[in-house]
Amino acid sequence: LKRAEEALRLQAETDSLTGLLNRDGFMSLIEQSIAQAKEEDGSVALAFLDLDRFKWVNDNLGHVAGDELLKEVAGRLFSLTREGEYVGRFGGDEYAIIVGGQDTADRVAELSDDIMEAFKRPVEVQGREFAVTVSIGISSYPHNAGTPEELIRAADVAMYHRKKSGRNGYTMFSSQLGRDAGQFLETEQLISQALANDWFELHLQPIMDLKVNQVAGFEALLRLNHPEKGLLAPGPIIETAEQSARILDIGDRVIDLAMQHMQAFKQSPLLKDCYLTVNFSAAQFLPSLPAKLAAKLMKFDLRPEKLILEITETVLMQESEGLGDIFDAIQTLGCRFALDDFGTGYSSLSYMSSFPVSIIKIDRSFVAMMAKEEDDAFEAKTETLVAGIIAMSHQLGLTVVAEGIETQRDANRITALGVDFGQGYHFSRPLPLECFNSQEENRQLLVAAD
Ligand code: C2E
Ligand code: MG
Ligand code: MG
Repeated sequence: LKRAEEALRLQAETDSLTGLLNRDGFMSLIEQSIAQAKEEDGSVALAFLDLDRFKWVNDNLGHVAGDELLKEVAGRLFSLTREGEYVGRFGGDEYAIIVGGQDTADRVAELSDDIMEAFKRPVEVQGREFAVTVSIGISSYPHNAGTPEELIRAADVAMYHRKKSGRNGYTMFSSQLGRDAGQFLETEQLISQALANDWFELHLQPIMDLKVNQVAGFEALLRLNHPEKGLLAPGPIIETAEQSARILDIGDRVIDLAMQHMQAFKQSPLLKDCYLTVNFSAAQFLPSLPAKLAAKLMKFDLRPEKLILEITETVLMQESEGLGDIFDAIQTLGCRFALDDFGTGYSSLSYMSSFPVSIIKIDRSFVAMMAKEEDDAFEAKTETLVAGIIAMSHQLGLTVVAEGIETQRDANRITALGVDFGQGYHFSRPLPLECFNSQEENRQLLVAAD
């Protein structure tokens, strides 16, 4: 009976494909190792491994080939470990190694170096050779964690950091990584709360027609209006949301709010001719977007040409198939595109000619550079650069907007260079729609740039 029990336990704790410990088996091993380390005043190091691009093998060569690869990897990892060190497979292409005793930090680093070295040799799958690389995250008890769960979470955080920073290598958990991960989770929760409780709003920043010194339109900028924390800026929220499908939920919310604003413009004698520019993230350009926009514009009887989609180069750089069609469909609808933050990324000229962009927004760093009064030569060079961007854009039939105009001097110089439109704190900060609804309020808000 005892033997049968033991056999059952082994079966329950073994990964049938590789013969390594499975997740359950590995978890109980971590528990034992930590308990032992507590008694002996020792430590436990955990290395969490993930194969880079395993999905490619599985998708392109099939599961049999994938299994073969997983077995080979298991064999290599196992052969590198010593007595008292254990390898487990956590499922998929995730493996873990645990090292107990004294000086575990040194040993796990050495082991990781050995793993990197071992995978310089290609792996043979179905008679073909593959270069396989792994990303490793390392954590240790008691330095980074007090419980098995914390140990795994810390190693996982370190492994994701490794994946993000170029794969093929290992990262040790640090308290900074922990804070970043904690921050990320907090922001994700905040986003969920904000969507559920309707805390997202748009603030409007006027875009001035510099020739006639009048408001031509507004940029819609996202704000999270938190009941306790007050107004929160969009930067970290968008950055976090863009790492998951959350950005689509936020994007939809922004589109709805933008439509409400455009409807309000229509009813205001002061704002009825104004356009609204709305920032879009790369992930929002799905095949369903053109129809979504069309339906909403139609529902509220809004003029499509009053809606301008602000995109950055990262949108255009996506190599997703059909992106050009999505753009064309939106343009056919009558909406326009503005290329945001121009001059900060690749500023590839081919984008300007191959995508239906009609507005270029020169990034505010250029205006800031031109305003550096202590360095005349630098200022002059920047001015020449901006003049060049303007000339080129105008010859391509594009309109130019300068962002970040903070002073009268900025406004004068930008206008003298021939920029068509300007936006910045000098004219007005982004504010709720109500602030722009009456002539009197407008007059106070918008500094006359004469
Ligand atoms: P952006 O599209 O380049 O927006 C301009 C940013 O510059 C805004 O920051 C605005 O408040 C700020 N700004 C305007 N005038 C001045 C000025 O004179 N000086 C300085 N120093 N700054 C000025 P904000 O509102 O914090 O937005 C940051 C970024 O977040 C935006 O940059 C945009 O990329 C993104 N974002 C905002 N709303 C949305 C949204 O609804 N969806 C998406 N996907 N992204 C958004
Ligand atoms: Mg923008
Ligand atoms: Mg911008």
